[in-house]
Amino acid sequence: MAHHDLVVVGTGSGNTFLDERFAGLDVALVEHGVFGGTCLNVGCIPTKMYVYAADVAEEIRHSSVYGVDASIDKIRWTDIRDRVFGRIDPISAGGREYRVDRSPNVTVYFGHARFTGDREFAVERTDGSGTDTLTADRVVIAAGSRPVVPPVVADSGVPFETSDTVMRVDAVPRRLVILGGGYIAAEFAHVFHALGAEVTMVARGPRLLRHLDETLSQRFTEIAQDRWDTRLNTQVTGLSGDGSGGPGEVTVTLDDGSEIVADTLLVATGRRPNGDRMDLPAGGVATLPDGRVEVDAYQRSVSADGVWALGDVSSEHQLKHVANHEAKVVGHNLTHPDDLWATNHRFVPAAVFTEPQIASVGLTEAAAREAGHDIAVKVQNFGDVAYGWAMEDTTGLCKIIAEKGSGRLLGAHLLGPQASTVIQPLIQAMSFGLDARAMATGQYWIHPALPEVVENALLGLDL
Ligand SMILES: Cc1cc2nc3c(=O)[nH]c(=O)nc-3n(C[C@H](O)[C@H](O)[C@H](O)COP(=O)(O)OP(=O)(O)OC[C@H]3O[C@@H](n4cnc5c(N)ncnc54)[C@H](O)[C@@H]3O)c2cc1C
Repeated sequence: MAHHDLVVVGTGSGNTFLDERFAGLDVALVEHGVFGGTCLNVGCIPTKMYVYAADVAEEIRHSSVYGVDASIDKIRWTDIRDRVFGRIDPISAGGREYRVDRSPNVTVYFGHARFTGDREFAVERTDGSGTDTLTADRVVIAAGSRPVVPPVVADSGVPFETSDTVMRVDAVPRRLVILGGGYIAAEFAHVFHALGAEVTMVARGPRLLRHLDETLSQRFTEIAQDRWDTRLNTQVTGLSGDGSGGPGEVTVTLDDGSEIVADTLLVATGRRPNGDRMDLPAGGVATLPDGRVEVDAYQRSVSADGVWALGDVSSEHQLKHVANHEAKVVGHNLTHPDDLWATNHRFVPAAVFTEPQIASVGLTEAAAREAGHDIAVKVQNFGDVAYGWAMEDTTGLCKIIAEKGSGRLLGAHLLGPQASTVIQPLIQAMSFGLDARAMATGQYWIHPALPEVVENALLGLDL
């Protein structure tokens, strides 16, 4: 049995706060998968590197609208893939090497950790060579989340991909069927469609990206329906195929009786926090009904003394910038027990890197009304401003929701080119309490840049 001052489970965001403040502590870091976690290895970063290539391909396909005729000679998928992982894999390996060889106070255990008591773990080594028992004064659970695979797929025996695996395939599938209508499904639909696949999306709900403000969800669904074979209000009832290669290897049967034949099946039906695989009750660690570790405002377990949690395993926001923020808070709080920071989840923005991009922060119109706010709403099209004309944009929009009278910004939702960047001044304004009038009129807006769509939306609010 080894005793440590601190045990951290998970090397994603859990590895980011262990800086010189912890140099005097004996720290154990436990990892059962690839060093560096989801964002680096199978999440934000590789997906966005693929999205960039997909955006370039789409740009070329649609360039004739600007009078520039061009065509794509070839998509070199394996070169795209190798560019992505040629960049990422060495970062993961470097992070691992730094912790194993050059962090004298950190012991890395490569294995699966589960609680066996209060701040006590059994770590089953991934190489199968045995089990380590660890105890600690303090524990940080940073175990992340994993893709959910519904039983209709898991029990079928039919081969499938998830976001963990699909980016490493050897070729672009000719026909790809994607289960799910959320952001991961929407991003991969864009990537694979742009790089040459015929894409079918199967979603249970009446619209794609249903968590978004309804105006954006509706607009995006219409765009997707024009671009991909999009089956809404639909459930999968059966799957067949042996995945032995060649056309027609997977047949997906839907509840309307129709069938989709595809070369590859991608399951993107959400993610589940990993606490359920850690015997949390044995460590006295309470969870919420959805399986997340329940924490207080300081990221402490509400039930287990000396246990902290951060990121997807405990957060309602499965986002890397939120996990990073929570890691900063945990790092501070562990080293400043008399000056605890509370996490700040007031205005959490999120983006979907599909085509077109989508970004949002704050309340949707429906949530603002439900909360009883007296609101003004303005929808401004990207096509209303000069840069939108330059881009021949016909679908982009910026929707802003503000409180009548005060002009307090309650929510902002953008769909269109570079939405994830154009939204940033709105995030800043909300975070620092700038109202809509002051934001619109108290600064210059570069003409004729895309953010003029934000300026015009602000000016158009009937406050
Ligand atoms: C396809 C995809 C695209 C995404 N795109 C974005 C994006 O554009 N922007 C954004 O903000 N977010 C994005 N995300 C979400 C983001 O990646 C996550 O919110 C973030 O990485 C979570 O970090 P974490 O530290 O909580 O968990 P992770 O980074 O997943 O780290 C948890 C680590 O713990 C290990 N682990 C788990 N259980 C155990 C155990 N019992 N014992 C030992 N080790 C264990 C895991 O192997 C893993 O390495 C994306 C996610 C996916 C899947």
